[in-house]
Amino acid sequence: MWMSSAPCRSERPGMLTSAHAESSRGARQNSFQPAYMALWRCGELSRRVEVGLNKLADCTLCPRNCQVNRIEDKSNVCKTGRYATVSSHFAHSGEEACLRGRFGSGTIFFSWCNLRCVFCQNYEISWLGQGRAVEAKALAEMMLSLQKQGCHNINLVTPAHVVPQILEALLLAVEGGLQLPLVYNTGGYDSLDALALMDGVVDIYMPDFKFWDPEKARRYAKAPDYPEVARRAIQEMHRQVGPLILDEHGLALRGVLIRHLVMPGGMAETVEIMRWIARELGPETYINVMSQYRPAGRVTDTEYPEIDRLITVKEFRQAIHVFYSAGLHRLDADSKMSAQAISTEA
Ligand code: SF4
Repeated sequence: MWMSSAPCRSERPGMLTSAHAESSRGARQNSFQPAYMALWRCGELSRRVEVGLNKLADCTLCPRNCQVNRIEDKSNVCKTGRYATVSSHFAHSGEEACLRGRFGSGTIFFSWCNLRCVFCQNYEISWLGQGRAVEAKALAEMMLSLQKQGCHNINLVTPAHVVPQILEALLLAVEGGLQLPLVYNTGGYDSLDALALMDGVVDIYMPDFKFWDPEKARRYAKAPDYPEVARRAIQEMHRQVGPLILDEHGLALRGVLIRHLVMPGGMAETVEIMRWIARELGPETYINVMSQYRPAGRVTDTEYPEIDRLITVKEFRQAIHVFYSAGLHRLDADSKMSAQAISTEA
């Protein structure tokens, strides 16, 4: 495994200067130092780009370990060769409140996926590859345009298979004046090699933790090793950035935010996942317990009939109870709102 050399950290990346007390959005952006700035200043970001692009030649960037030459535009599970495919980029007002803030989370949706769950709600993007291939310059321009629109962060959705391409674009974007924190918004099927490339680059890790049972991970994502991979990856993310830190306006600055989608009939999974998080990462871990599962993608009443329904009110209530019973207390505001909505309905 390639290891990060943890170089040249002359400052505390991602932390605020004393000017942090200023309250305007502009002041926040001026005073905030995203993690990658320190690596850029000492040349380490350029080295990461080189290391990452070299890895494309015999790709083991994610746990699928395909070993194809993506420099020659070959691909396998992720269907992505030399260049990333982007479906859309926009100021997202539907992400967690700590990311969307007032002006939106600057979201870049990468097409294709290295995990591909059968119930994916973005099926056209993750399975069918809706989008267009973009070179580094175009990707950097997207980042800068999101900053110009006033977004609070750059939210990289499904980044696991395009880490080198992100680094390549980031270098250009930083040279062009990018100053926003990066959100690494992943399904959780990430290799330690890819995360080492992102060490000191990403400010906010936002992994899903989807499955605990390897059989479920095999059935729904053809990835029986998902639970083990996700546990390892989330531990590494936590090691890099720690628990989520919010600023005085409730905006995320740095740390880990875990998403857990409550699945129909999946309460045993939820119990194990919440207990593991509390035990291994600690009670300060910030979690969004998500109620919005709906049948999508390849799920029909004949294919995967057991998940061809919404979750029930009872199931969501149980999931919230499980969260608190595990000793956790930092529940995302959107989860709280869902829990309050169902208690009002009942
Ligand atoms: S990133 Fe793509 S090509 Fe590389 S190992 Fe993963 S699925 Fe295979």
